[in-house]
Amino acid sequence: MEEKRGLKNRGYSHADVDERRRAVEEFTGASLESVSKYCFDSEKASKNIENMIGATQVPLGFAGPVTIKGDHAKGEFIVPLATTEGALTASIGRGMSVINESGGARVKIFLDGMTRAPVFRTDGLDHCERVMEWIGANMPRLSSVVDATTNHGRLASVESYPAGRNLFIRFTYETGDAMGMNMATIATEAVCKEIEAATGAVMVSVSGNMCSDKKPAAINMIRGRGKTVVAEALIPKEIVERRLRATTASIVETNTRKNLIGSSLSVTLGANAHAANMLAAVYIATGQDPAQVVSGSMTTTMCEDVGGDLYISVRMPSVEVGTVGGGTRLPSQSEALGMIGCLGDEKAKKLAEIVAVTVLAGELSTISAQAAGHLGKAHMELGR
Ligand code: NAP
Repeated sequence: MEEKRGLKNRGYSHADVDERRRAVEEFTGASLESVSKYCFDSEKASKNIENMIGATQVPLGFAGPVTIKGDHAKGEFIVPLATTEGALTASIGRGMSVINESGGARVKIFLDGMTRAPVFRTDGLDHCERVMEWIGANMPRLSSVVDATTNHGRLASVESYPAGRNLFIRFTYETGDAMGMNMATIATEAVCKEIEAATGAVMVSVSGNMCSDKKPAAINMIRGRGKTVVAEALIPKEIVERRLRATTASIVETNTRKNLIGSSLSVTLGANAHAANMLAAVYIATGQDPAQVVSGSMTTTMCEDVGGDLYISVRMPSVEVGTVGGGTRLPSQSEALGMIGCLGDEKAKKLAEIVAVTVLAGELSTISAQAAGHLGKAHMELGR
């Protein structure tokens, strides 16, 4: 039916896109004049979307420069942010300015690995155990199966979770500068064929939801997925009071009662003010998969009074980013990655560190605004 109406086809020339959009306009009665205006090569976007009819534009701004003292991101960075939320960019910029005046932010990556966890059907517990033993004894063989599917991916580790006649096997891969989800899926499918042939277990789904992709899941919060990144800054008392118009004690109290106790009572995975806001803005700007904001949002924000100064830190267990593949190849997104020197090879860890410091800045600014009772005022002035 859709084919006949001209709504559904895989053509990606500008003319194909125009024709499909006109068919959609006719079907829906909506004018898509703005959607028709885009400047990228529709043919090149064919790996990113089907049924393309144009583009949605999101305003792009920036925050910074911010001084980052990472293992991979070192120096001052102007961070691209795509958002429709007034006050967000200004707030992150305020946090960055305070971090700069305090000497910058330290950031470190503690874990790095993309996961895929297929679920197998077995005959029962003894069969689960035999499969687990076979995997343990055949790791070199499984690694070479992975190597045949990718030049940059490597099998890093395997964990098994038997449950009745179900066996979940969580594979973790090094994925170079790719976020790695396609890479991990392709490699896992190949590995599963070996396991099925050798053990008789039947793979029911390549993703058994213990991966866990695009769902808030404690397994990612505890064991990490993508990059586990921690950022910190120490804001001197004088800067807290002059720049944030709050006290260290009031910020620590706000963080404890709101982020730690409130999140605990509401059984939130993570304990933060709005980490998802910074993640969404950087992810959309730089061509990351925006659905993966969900796992990044399981951030824990910590504030302590250190002799009157404010120590603030964010632990981000699941920063799933890449600087090759996916949406990074689109031109606006490539340009945004270029702003932070994060396009291409050997840049994914640098990007993850910049993401974490951007989240740290946004958390600092928003928690301080709430401690000072300024949040509503800022949104009234900038966002309405
Ligand atoms: P990808 O574009 O599918 O794969 C990355 C490609 O870049 C590979 O062909 C890789 O080659 C190549 N590459 C070149 N230089 C590289 C380098 N330095 N490091 C790593 N790879 C390099 O990207 P992906 O990150 O695996 O997947 C991202 C996409 O997956 C996003 O579009 C996302 O939306 C989507 N996604 C997929 C699933 C799923 O279940 N399949 C789930 C969520 C998201 P080699 O492989 O030969 O090394």
